[in-house]
Amino acid sequence: MIIHMAEGATPDQTQAVIDRIANDYALRCETIVSATTVIGVKGIAAIVDEGRIAELPGVERVIRITEKYKDASRNFHHEDTVIRVGNVSIGGDNLTVFGGPCAIETEKLAVDSAMMAKNAGCDVLRAFVDKSRTSPYDFRGLPIEKGLDIAAAMKAATGMPTVGELIDLRHLDAFLKAGIDIIQVGARSAQYSPLLEELSRIDTPIVLKHGFGNDLNEWLCAAAYIMSGLDRQGRSVGQGNKNVILCYRGIRSFESETRFAADISMIPLVRQKSHLPLLADPSHSSGDKKLVERVAYGFVAAGSNGLEFDIHSNPAEALCDGKQAVGEVEASRIVGNCRQIHGSLQGIGYETGKSQLVAVR
Ligand code: PEP
Ligand code: MN
Repeated sequence: MIIHMAEGATPDQTQAVIDRIANDYALRCETIVSATTVIGVKGIAAIVDEGRIAELPGVERVIRITEKYKDASRNFHHEDTVIRVGNVSIGGDNLTVFGGPCAIETEKLAVDSAMMAKNAGCDVLRAFVDKSRTSPYDFRGLPIEKGLDIAAAMKAATGMPTVGELIDLRHLDAFLKAGIDIIQVGARSAQYSPLLEELSRIDTPIVLKHGFGNDLNEWLCAAAYIMSGLDRQGRSVGQGNKNVILCYRGIRSFESETRFAADISMIPLVRQKSHLPLLADPSHSSGDKKLVERVAYGFVAAGSNGLEFDIHSNPAEALCDGKQAVGEVEASRIVGNCRQIHGSLQGIGYETGKSQLVAVR
């Protein structure tokens, strides 16, 4: 961050800016004095509120020179991050498929759907106990303890690692004790800072969905915040959780015939901007099983490191999103074709604007 002092700003005004940054944010500054004075802020300038600085007497302009989402940015970490969960690798050259039912409804439906995901060739199983829904009147999941028992049964039946959405912080310990391997932050919670802060205190991998009203900067700031280990005062109180996986799922638009609008160009853009693994969700974006397959191919061709999609053994019985869940035959075809597309497009890198990075080989 650079602060330009106005022509005629006094040394006291410059010192007041430096003191504000030192006292409020514990950051150091360097000053260059020529025709005017320029102050450079060193360290994690993401925590500095530029509005407060811009209001100080004598300040002409405050300019952010690096992204606020430093920890998640490729400019500060050139290599792809690869996250390992058991035998599964996510990110880098891997194509990793997360699949399973939208929600755990009954043990039979959940375990049957889990077996379908396994047979289809998925790597990680959706075991969703708690659900954030479009309407809070819709099915919100089984009681947590019961749902977690079924999640454990799904894991035991398939031997696959599981992902589950954490909505309520009070359930974090129970999730971890029940063996949920990856915690998902849903689109509706993607900017809920208490949740992001708590998840920065553990090292369990996190899938961070793209909030459907968020731009790229907001999404990557949320990811970087989980990675930062900061407390609410912006003080470093830990290492942060570096195991963040992004998942794109489309945004709200005026179109009513698809559920959300997936902007395919976000996939290579996010791969350029961030070193973090990027999944994409063709089920919650399109909202229709008749669209899921082709959308999945599009995401993989565009460079996503994997997919997360809904698979259900009996969509007619589903209490949650049956309309967008595919069966085992379609799921197998999706996984097989996506692996082929991914294999045939290896070698295409991502233009960072600085240098050509070979992110995919
Ligand atoms: C989900 O993955 O089950 C889900 C609800 O997705 P999103 O948070 O993207 O709406
Ligand atoms: Mn759903």
